[in-house]
Formats: sequence, structure tokens, C-alpha cells
Amino acid sequence: MHVTVTNETAEVDAKTATETVVGVDINEGCVALAALTESGIEDSIVIDYPEIKEERHRYFTMRKRMQKAEQTAFNDVFRDKEQRFVHDQLHTVSRRVVEWIQRFDSPVIIFEDLKDIRDDIEYGPRMNRRLHSLPFAKLRDFISYKAAWKGIPSDDVDPEYTSQQCPLCGHTERANRNGKRFKCCECEHQDHADRGAGVSVAQKWLRTQDDRNVPALNTLPQVRKWELRRQASGSVDGPTVTSDTGRGNQTDGIRGVSD
Ligand SMILES: [Zn+2]
Repeated sequence: MHVTVTNETAEVDAKTATETVVGVDINEGCVALAALTESGIEDSIVIDYPEIKEERHRYFTMRKRMQKAEQTAFNDVFRDKEQRFVHDQLHTVSRRVVEWIQRFDSPVIIFEDLKDIRDDIEYGPRMNRRLHSLPFAKLRDFISYKAAWKGIPSDDVDPEYTSQQCPLCGHTERANRNGKRFKCCECEHQDHADRGAGVSVAQKWLRTQDDRNVPALNTLPQVRKWELRRQASGSVDGPTVTSDTGRGNQTDGIRGVSD
């Protein structure tokens, strides 16, 4: 299968021939990934990038202050600096995402399709916040672009209810989710909400495919985290592994969250 990537063509695997389905949940401060096969969950990770939000907030405040003082000449300089910072961070994050995904057999990356729902207030404040925060579309593009060069295809699912659905029992209710915490009102399963959404995205895609089994999940592996932080020099550094339970732990996964 050929995919056109900005005027050049990369050879990617057919989605139907893939084995590992990686659900992606992109947020203002992190991206959560969950890798599923038809027989269960392989692994999951949450990559935090808190400085993007912090820097954007800092520049926003600075611009407001300068506008008040009518120092508009400086605006462009700061806008460039901000954009360069965000751009660099998103490149590092997307590189790490693709590296993580490459460890699995014949992966396919599944994103939530958010492009047609921009004005749909039915999706609530969480979705609106995600839509209007810059990183979403750009990070998605960077990930699918880098993945295509490694032969890894991407696809989407409808995002409705992915953050409210319990990945273990399937119960879907708004009250399941409270900020970053997920607790199922039916089976009491607790999780990092964004990681759970990543699992739901992968499950949802499997359900839309003919002849694909959606695995029944009894537990999920402990949530592993990477955090992207700048070094003192100001250059963007790779993420630090803050906890690593390893792939071997998936069978005796701990219910709950390690954050
Ligand atoms: Zn449940």
C-alpha cells in the first residue's frame, strides 16, 4: 500500500494485515498509547510533555502584557520562539512514540478522528479543550508521517465515548471519568483516564474490522510514564523513564495507576 507523505511516497503495510493495534489518545499535556492484539493487551505508556502547556501559557501572558504596554514590535519575535519550542518538543515526542510502537509485530496506529466535530458542543468541555489546543493536530501529523516512513499505517475511529467507556467491562457513562482519574461505576476498575482512552480507541477500531476478535481484558498493565523535560541548557532532551515495569509484567498487571 502506498501513502503520499508531503510529495513523497512511503511504502506502508496494509491495515488489514496488521497484528498489533496501537490506540492513541492525545491531550494538552500528554499522549497515551495502548498496544492490543486480538489476544490481549501487550503494553501501554503515557508520555507527558507538561512544558508545552507551560510555555504556551507563559508566552500568552507575556504577549498580553506587551500589548498593554503597546510594545507590539516584540510580538513576532516571541511568536517565533514559542512556535519553535513547541515544534521541537512535538518532534521529540513523535519520535519517541514511533520508537515505542516499532517494538510490536506489524503495528497499526489508531487515532481519534477529531476533524469533523470542531463545532459540536455535544462532545463537552474535554473535547473542546483538546480541539482548541494546538498540539493535537500537529502531533498526530508528526506521528503518522514518521510512522509511514517505517512502513507503519495509521487509521481513525469515531472519538465518541472513548474516554467514558470502561476498557474491561464496556460500561459507558460520563461519571466514569473525573479529570485524569477513571473509575468504572459498574465494575469499579480504576485507571489513568488517558491510558484507558487509548485502550478504548484500539478496541473500538478492532470492533469496526470484519473477522477481528476484540480481546476480553481482565486487568491492564501498570501505567508506565515518560516525561519530556528540557535540560538546563534549554535544549530539548529525550524523555526520562520515570517508571518501567517492563513488557514482561503484563500478565500480572496491577489494577490501578502508578502516577
Ligand atoms: Zn467497568
